[in-house]
Amino acid sequence: MDIGEQDCHVALLLAMTSQVHNLIIIGSGPAGLTAGIYTGRAALEPLLFSGITIGGQLMYTTEVENFPGYPQGIMGPQLMLSMREQAEKFGTKVRLLQKR
Ligand SMILES: Cc1cc2nc3c(=O)[nH]c(=O)nc-3n(C[C@H](O)[C@H](O)[C@H](O)COP(=O)(O)OP(=O)(O)OC[C@H]3O[C@@H](n4cnc5c(N)ncnc54)[C@H](O)[C@@H]3O)c2cc1C
Repeated sequence: MDIGEQDCHVALLLAMTSQVHNLIIIGSGPAGLTAGIYTGRAALEPLLFSGITIGGQLMYTTEVENFPGYPQGIMGPQLMLSMREQAEKFGTKVRLLQKR
């Protein structure tokens, strides 16, 4: 099995975390943060590891025109910051991974 650098960081952080968690989410793109919003609201107190690409692929684009609820469009990084804020509002703990 090929283990990438990000996986090593996650494994290291998990090993350093002595606490037991109900739920751990890997990745901070739309999928990960949506999982954070839903499971946070379900009071599962999720722990989310961001991965190296903090906010996921939409951090690298400009206007997103097809996201429901934004008829004028929204900038990708702003959308991802809002998703993170919403996940954290419901108790998701976000742990940032930085490339060394
Ligand atoms: C330039 C660009 C413009 C785009 N514009 C649009 C658009 O206008 N409309 C649209 O609908 N879609 C657009 N997309 C596509 C959209 O960005 C993706 O469909 C969406 O980001 C997928 O979300 P995701 O959460 O599944 O994955 P991603 O956004 O890719 O997030 C994956 C997350 O997982 C983390 N991760 C991955 N592997 C590991 C690992 N081994 N260990 C730890 N963490 C890991 C990453 O660091 C990242 O945080 C665009 C994409 C790009 C690149």
